[in-house]
Amino acid sequence: MKICVVGVGYVGLVTAGCLAEAGNNVVCVDNDEEKVAKLKAGIIPIYEPGLTEIVKHNEQLGRLHFTTDLRSGVDNSFIIFLAVGTPSAQDGSCDTSAILSVAREIADYLNDYKIIVTKSTVPVGTHRVVTDLIKSRTSAPFDYVSNPEFLKEGAAVEDFMSPDRIIVGTNSLAVQKALQQLYGPFMRKRTRIVFMNPASAEMTKYAANAMLATRISFMNEVSVLCEKVGADIELVRHGLGSDSRIGLAFLFPGVGFGGSCLPKDIRALIRTGSEHGVDMTITKAVQQVNVNQQERFAARIKDYFRGREEKTTLAIWGLAFKAKTDDVRESPALYCIKQFLDRGMKIKAYDPAAAGVARAALNNAIETFQNGYDALDNANALVIFTDWQEFRNPDFGTIKAKLKEPVIFDGRNLYDLDLVREAGFEYHSIGRRPTLPGVP
Ligand code: NAD
Repeated sequence: MKICVVGVGYVGLVTAGCLAEAGNNVVCVDNDEEKVAKLKAGIIPIYEPGLTEIVKHNEQLGRLHFTTDLRSGVDNSFIIFLAVGTPSAQDGSCDTSAILSVAREIADYLNDYKIIVTKSTVPVGTHRVVTDLIKSRTSAPFDYVSNPEFLKEGAAVEDFMSPDRIIVGTNSLAVQKALQQLYGPFMRKRTRIVFMNPASAEMTKYAANAMLATRISFMNEVSVLCEKVGADIELVRHGLGSDSRIGLAFLFPGVGFGGSCLPKDIRALIRTGSEHGVDMTITKAVQQVNVNQQERFAARIKDYFRGREEKTTLAIWGLAFKAKTDDVRESPALYCIKQFLDRGMKIKAYDPAAAGVARAALNNAIETFQNGYDALDNANALVIFTDWQEFRNPDFGTIKAKLKEPVIFDGRNLYDLDLVREAGFEYHSIGRRPTLPGVP
């Protein structure tokens, strides 16, 4: 099939690459000229495991093209995907201006029947707004589909190739058939496509993200209580998740959720609720618990070094909002680091993929290193924000030798309490008692 993908970010580039991998001819359109120039030169602007290989392979085979020219994308495709950003507006609502501007342009270029599919996360009702907008500018036939994306950064290619489900919001049987054909290669083992009306599809995306965020905030709230009553959140997590009605996924306590999706989608859902007179009580609490959790972690470190901030250097492991991505949007690491910098502390940081983008986001106020151990030299403590695999089994002897004080603040519960205590560290984690060297 001939496909156009508008917006070549995490979602758009993965969608385009994977659809090309299935044999489709895909043209990617983005209004960021620098990004398009890089992609044309074979430079992949984001870090996402497996993506570089797919993009390069399909580009070489002539199945994947990049342009800033939306008209040529529209002219040369049957299905047009919208994967542009939908960030938070000032008031917390979802800013759909990029979707609307692309829809307007597409309408102006439309000359025969196309299927227009929104992959971006957009508030319920956007299908109606976009459909009316396009209809008001063209008499060319088209169908509009809501097809929210559920991929996870860090496993995006894998998720696209083998999705849990594909949600397609359309009332047209012909469109259902076309999308079933397009997604067929990704459902070899079993059919995972769920059709529904567009409003339900739009709502499903927000409900899914709110549910995931709820699990995290719930665990974080329980972790606070665990610390007070002498329980261990990791034991509780195992016990809780072993119930087949609950399951173990998304039950990790930590320093709070971040990223480009959960925080903004929660804000937008609360906003949609208030527009319709529904107080999203649970969702609001989820949001508040998440702020509290980040604040609590930052406060613990600030309290520890109170009075000697100017003489304190923190070694930070992990800047991305989670492992296997270079995305630092609303990363708890950046949220906390800003507070440390405000207190006059120095930051030496390492992240396998996000160091450059994080340093830029913090106006070069931190020093970054090529490996985790170099960031430790003469630091007063190690602070862990991201659960990168390479942090899980480090050389504790080297860490101890390099740090000025053998102290670890771990926002991801990466280590066994006995192990770090025996290695001679004072260790602060989430929802577990702090441990001191030599103290059983
Ligand atoms: P992104 O910021 O990485 O990419 C968006 C791209 O759209 C950018 O390259 C930008 O230059 C381009 N763009 C913006 N306006 C444009 C315009 N008028 N014309 C052409 N291109 C334009 O965003 P993302 O993370 O890929 O997210 C895209 C959408 O998918 C959002 O709605 C997001 O909520 C949703 N989503 C994201 C994820 C994720 O993990 N990142 C997962 C599921 C859904």
